[in-house]
Amino acid sequence: MKKKACLFLDRDGVIIKDVGYIKSVEQIELYDDIIPIIKWAKSKEKGRERDQDYYVVVVSNQAGVAKGYCSEEDVLLINSKIDEMLKAKGAYIDKWYYCPFHPTEGVGQYKRESEWRKPKPGMFLQACKDFAIDLNKSIMIGDKKSDIPEFSELSEFSEFSEFADVTLRSFLIQQNYSLEGVDKNIIFANHQLLLQYLNSME
Ligand SMILES: [Mg+2]
Repeated sequence: MKKKACLFLDRDGVIIKDVGYIKSVEQIELYDDIIPIIKWAKSKEKGRERDQDYYVVVVSNQAGVAKGYCSEEDVLLINSKIDEMLKAKGAYIDKWYYCPFHPTEGVGQYKRESEWRKPKPGMFLQACKDFAIDLNKSIMIGDKKSDIPEFSELSEFSEFSEFADVTLRSFLIQQNYSLEGVDKNIIFANHQLLLQYLNSME
């Protein structure tokens, strides 16, 4: 099966407004400007350089679960509501991944290190197990430094050693988080400017 590129999206601050720890569907504020970005990834327009669409998956740290602000059921409910809202506007997500753990501020079973917690690449690697993804052609969009996955940490003995030298092309939207030290060329003031850039890449 031929591998395809994937558009990885952070959830809070990228798909919906980051309102701190969102607990319920009533707090969802969708960024309408994410819709054309998802459609950009899903289009196979003739005349474009690429003739294949991207997978689109969401990779989201949800430490609010670890900290006891919400439950995994809440996260699943919120994700499915967002998915529904996006679908209604013609924007399709292939799969939603989230990490409920936190290494130091968790309660009970959720207080632990996890390979899925960004910047660790576990969610990205799981997506590569679930879909035929070419990471070298793929893109991540986030709003925090930790949204840029660190593949270099992978042990050469791990089952994922083939990914150890991957650099996933990443872009960050400037929201409320300090992006000090991040390459300015990958930072965009808003979704529209990022979409313009994505279009110019082709
Ligand atoms: Mg975020």
